[in-house]
Amino acid sequence: MKIFDSHCHLYDENEPEKLIYSAAENGVEGFVVVGTSYETSRKTVEIVSQLQEDFPELDIYSAIGLHPHDASESFDRIEELVRETLKYVPNGLVAIGECGLDYYYNHCEPTIQVEAFRRQIELAKQLNLALIVHTRDAWDDTFKILDEQGAPKNTIIHCFTGGLNELTECLKRNFTISFSGIVTFKNSIELQRAAIECPTHSLIVETDSPFLAPEPFRGKPNSPKNVIEVLKKIVELKQTDPDEAATTIFTNTQRVFNLI
Ligand SMILES: [Zn+2]
Repeated sequence: MKIFDSHCHLYDENEPEKLIYSAAENGVEGFVVVGTSYETSRKTVEIVSQLQEDFPELDIYSAIGLHPHDASESFDRIEELVRETLKYVPNGLVAIGECGLDYYYNHCEPTIQVEAFRRQIELAKQLNLALIVHTRDAWDDTFKILDEQGAPKNTIIHCFTGGLNELTECLKRNFTISFSGIVTFKNSIELQRAAIECPTHSLIVETDSPFLAPEPFRGKPNSPKNVIEVLKKIVELKQTDPDEAATTIFTNTQRVFNLI
């Protein structure tokens, strides 16, 4: 079975290589490691370079961005980091993000979040990179801004938590839907319905580790190997062939990050 964790954070891990090793032992072959601020993005690029050296047989890439919580940081520094990374770390960077809107926490003013989001959409398009979108309690504005700005060809709705309506809006725009451990939670009825309805060729899976550990590890620190639990749940919900689904989802991930 081919498995790709399309979204994990390793910047706070003391021994990221151990987590990658354990994931690989369990069959996870690909990883996109995500930054959320200048500091965590810089660290992510460093970690990924090291991991690529340690595990040449695995597909390990980075994503750089300003999370809506960190949207008040200077975007110019992020843009500079992106351009430097593309120049000096070939095959390292595959996406801009995570970026987007979080009106649940509102750690930054919405106007500041919107401005940072717009700039990241533009940068992704300019550099032909995928865009990783975080959205919480902000669906209307997320769609509005992506429509106004023109969404990048490869746009991922990371940690999708919507229902059927949001799913329809995403699919209409050709976005890729990324399911996290939340889909394994018992009370995620609407989300599970969306997973059943979402065509397999439009979805990918992620851990968002160290956050959001799936069942049966809920409440514990998460790690990339647990992406298997997310995949298993999708297969169970869709009542589909596991190998076939895994291969399709793996290929979707490679395609959305321009790896094939
Ligand atoms: Zn994340």
